[in-house]
Amino acid sequence: MTVTLGDYPLFIGGNWSSGISDKRFDIVNPATEEVVATVPNAVPEDMHMAIEAAVIAQSEWGNSVASYRSQILARAAHLMRERVEKLAEVMTLEEGKPLADARGEVLYAASFLEWFGEEAKRIYGDMIPANTPEKRIVVIKRPVGVTAAITPWNFPAAMITRKVGPALAAGCTMIIKPSELTPLSALEIAKIFEEAGLPKGVLSVVVGNDASALAKVVMDDMRVRKISFTGSTEVGKILMRQAADTMKRVSLELGGHAPFIVFDDANIDDAVEQAIICKMRGMGETCVSANRFYVQQGIVEAFTDKLATRMGQMRVGNGLDAGISVGPLIEPAAVDKVDRHVQDAVDQGATLISGGKRHSEQRGYFYEPTVLANVTESMLVMNEETFGPVAAITPFTDEDEVIERANHSPFGLAAYYFTRDIGRVFRLAERLEYGIIGVNDGMPSTAQAPFGGVKLSGIGREGSKYGLEEYLDIKYISLGGI
Ligand code: ADP
Repeated sequence: MTVTLGDYPLFIGGNWSSGISDKRFDIVNPATEEVVATVPNAVPEDMHMAIEAAVIAQSEWGNSVASYRSQILARAAHLMRERVEKLAEVMTLEEGKPLADARGEVLYAASFLEWFGEEAKRIYGDMIPANTPEKRIVVIKRPVGVTAAITPWNFPAAMITRKVGPALAAGCTMIIKPSELTPLSALEIAKIFEEAGLPKGVLSVVVGNDASALAKVVMDDMRVRKISFTGSTEVGKILMRQAADTMKRVSLELGGHAPFIVFDDANIDDAVEQAIICKMRGMGETCVSANRFYVQQGIVEAFTDKLATRMGQMRVGNGLDAGISVGPLIEPAAVDKVDRHVQDAVDQGATLISGGKRHSEQRGYFYEPTVLANVTESMLVMNEETFGPVAAITPFTDEDEVIERANHSPFGLAAYYFTRDIGRVFRLAERLEYGIIGVNDGMPSTAQAPFGGVKLSGIGREGSKYGLEEYLDIKYISLGGI
């Protein structure tokens, strides 16, 4: 059955617009390769208009009381939850993830709006003892001003709200450039904010398929004081360089290459269940997906068998259909990359336990859930982000060895390990060079916890009170003559 969502407009300065160029492009369902909607193709002039509107709106929004901003965020969170079915369907159609996953993401996305809305009321300052009796030292926090966000396709709603939530809570305006592959969820969220009573200009969603041209307008504009980006390390580096000239603040959530370590004292069944969640959420297309499975020698066979059995039980297909737990990948190039990683591993001597090829669906960008054993460090799958449903397993003997191998990566986003030894829990937590550590936990992400990486995985944190700080400038007020 063909499902179409029609023609979406852009949301610029509080107005729905077809854009200056009048050109449009198609949004394709990766499960069926059919066009599900069209969107206007914004040009740099549209982005200029969004920035102008944000600059005008900034003063009033930035000086509004926190409870007002909080109420709008709470209302938006409520509307998202109320519309979970509709939003999940839009997400599945544009991104491919199964409906159950999409529902989960919508609720997760709403949680950022709710949590940061609550936190807006707790942006406290400081009073510091002065060094002379006639002075007082006061510290206040102010919104950084106009901000911009560039977001990826793998979490079409949550990557938006994880940025919009803290921005609005802090009193910043924001312009979003969502991925050209999944802009519909972003536009649905804009609609929700409009209904929630957000003043015009505070939020704009500018969609276009020339990302670098649109981003350049943002990066060159001195009035935009912060850029928050989630995406590839390659683009993150470009943006960081471009941010230098106007000295914008940057938050960069970039690639990862997560190790997933299972010690022989772990509960294997629990570790397998967490591995499935960690590896297969979003078909493995997340930056915190486990990419390298290190399993201690004595249990590697048992773990591999159980994981392959569980992966084999997962039904692959159109995410709108009942019972489907693995949807398509986002585009043909993603399938090619996954296949290249698998073939490279097999060519270099890995054992293919299950899967290992494109799925037999007639249309759509499907790949079979795949388990590889006996992988070695030189294989592509152990070095590059696979972004697909492939679990690559390698044995290890002891703690020091596995820490060294896990740290041998330019990335440092998430690491997971499974053990019951409390000493080991702390030793690894301290020594693994990663920003997020999951101990007996394959899905640590949540609104109140800091999400972000080290090394090539980026700069800054999102979620939590630390994520809010990224949208606030510290201002020191020295009071004399007292
Ligand atoms: P992914 O590999 O996850 O698609 P990308 O980094 O290519 O990651 O894309 C993430 C976001 O960055 C998308 O919104 C995309 O349009 C945008 N983007 C891609 N290239 C550039 C660029 N040169 N400058 C700014 N944004 C870009």
